[in-house]
Amino acid sequence: MIAYGVFREGGRARVGARVEGGVLDLAAALGDEAFHAPSLNGFMAGGPSIWREAHSRAREASGPVLGLDEVELLMPFEVADYVDFFSSLHHASNMGGMFRPDAEPLLPNWRHLPVGYHGRAGTVVPSGTPIVRPCGQRWAPGADAPSFGPSVRLDIELELGFVIGVASELGMPVPIDRALDHVFGLVLVNDWSARDIQAWEYQPLGPFLGKSFATSISHWVAPLTEVEGHRVPAGAQEPEPLPYLREEPWAYDLALEVELNGAVVARTSGRHLYWSIAQQVAHLTANGASMRTGDLLATGTISGPERESHGSLIELSWNGTEPIELPGGETRSFLEDGDEVVLRGEGLGEVRGRIDPARC
Ligand code: MN
Repeated sequence: MIAYGVFREGGRARVGARVEGGVLDLAAALGDEAFHAPSLNGFMAGGPSIWREAHSRAREASGPVLGLDEVELLMPFEVADYVDFFSSLHHASNMGGMFRPDAEPLLPNWRHLPVGYHGRAGTVVPSGTPIVRPCGQRWAPGADAPSFGPSVRLDIELELGFVIGVASELGMPVPIDRALDHVFGLVLVNDWSARDIQAWEYQPLGPFLGKSFATSISHWVAPLTEVEGHRVPAGAQEPEPLPYLREEPWAYDLALEVELNGAVVARTSGRHLYWSIAQQVAHLTANGASMRTGDLLATGTISGPERESHGSLIELSWNGTEPIELPGGETRSFLEDGDEVVLRGEGLGEVRGRIDPARC
């Protein structure tokens, strides 16, 4: 499976493709100007016919291939805007049940539109970047006032992220059946989340500082055409969405896993998403908002029906009431300093991050 990234070698950053044994230097192999660049944005702006041609040329190219120990992998693209959705039914139901135990787990809008929020593009970082434990304001259980300090409920969110190649026009909604023409490919995402900060700040405007401190993505972007074979039909959406969101339900059956300190603690799949990337694009642009090359549209945490298929620690430990047991006998509900999380996705590589101590 072809995937594109950006690497530095000999002092120069340029575009490469992940191949057996290392990184194919696309700038040298294909000579295109778009690959002599420190990001994929120029290439991604070209559109589907240019992408397809490049994929087949990259597949046939024979070198030069550089070993992974000879290169430094960098951010694959410049993130323009970042939107995070909430598109997994099991995740949304689990979170609703935990945050609002006395109410319906799903809010009334959830089955009618892909709920999302605008995140912080400037703090999206590549795999391997250390994550400093965030400080912030939270209301501790049993306390009589809010306090400020290091988050004590630092969590992960396993997500897929779709990367926009072709921009859309301001004022022009993208129809659902044209949505995929704008999408270059996908990355794996860890949307680090401070649950204590999030719980105190999120009403009524949604996530803010509990999520904006860092979001990690994989070094490699897998083109949509390369994951086409993983597309599977999904269950019916009930109730049927409004016409601008209507399509035959589908999802990508891509195997995903969460590793914590060397132990796999969850296995799930992209097929557990209720809303598709086409529906997310149609909804995001329904009001005329435009997309730019480099926009990152993440799916939200992907959770399946079983406990071991949940994509966040708050679900895996059921809000801390059933801590996860690790092989050495340690337990975790949330992340400790020094913990390392590695997310892996079929064809997407990995997203790695270790927690550094707070600086407050
Ligand atoms: Mn998220």
